[in-house]
Amino acid sequence: MKMRFHPFTSGTLVVNKGTLDNTNWGVKYEHPNPMFAIRHPKGVVVFDTGMNHRALADPGGWWGKSSAGIEVRLTEGDCLPAQLEKVGIGVDEVKYVVMSHLHMDHSGEMLSFPDATFVVRQSELSYAWWPARNQRYTYCFNDLVGTREFAFLGIADGVDFDLFGDGSLVLVHTPGHTPGHQSLVVALPDYDNPILLCQDACYMRTNFERNPYSLNLMWNAEKWFQSIERIRYLAGIGHEIWFGHEMESWDGLIKKFA
Ligand SMILES: [Zn+2]
Repeated sequence: MKMRFHPFTSGTLVVNKGTLDNTNWGVKYEHPNPMFAIRHPKGVVVFDTGMNHRALADPGGWWGKSSAGIEVRLTEGDCLPAQLEKVGIGVDEVKYVVMSHLHMDHSGEMLSFPDATFVVRQSELSYAWWPARNQRYTYCFNDLVGTREFAFLGIADGVDFDLFGDGSLVLVHTPGHTPGHQSLVVALPDYDNPILLCQDACYMRTNFERNPYSLNLMWNAEKWFQSIERIRYLAGIGHEIWFGHEMESWDGLIKKFA
């Protein structure tokens, strides 16, 4: 079986753009919430789970302060279980769920995979449970509390983690946005370059090219810049960089895999 790569967006969020680029304060910016499925001969892998469809019946009750100041544009059909179904993958077929980090727009559908093994940095698991005060509501406790007994492979900080030992899916620790943030390198046999899925290690091209960053969504600025340098290095050796929350490039990227 050949590897196959399926990118999706879990609806969109409309945010204050200054929280991402520290420049356009007050400018409304609609961005995708990327999540991915990868069919691999050793099993189906999901990378990030987007927003939670369970919240749609009572958004204020489920997300609480986590969605304050954010406009959520989401239908049940945008959420991961429905997106997987569209490409013929049942939620019970997913063997590994890899988490970049556990913020609300990435961890929403963890509850939909009770039988999968979750591959997360241990530092992120610990921090999400009891974050610093200024990060408390970027994690939605309702998304996380039901996963307490799930199977987690909590991997160490700093190391690159080769999921199947064949170089096809390699997790790179990219802290800064959060302690245990990780990005995923996807090397597809029939695609020219490895793809780096940055997620929130680098929201947009402007963070990559011109360095703006916002302390609003920052755990550690020094580590953020170290991670940006790692991403630049990977770009320099030929990786195709997919920014985590950039609307301008998103449609063109996913069309390559439609
Ligand atoms: Zn985040």
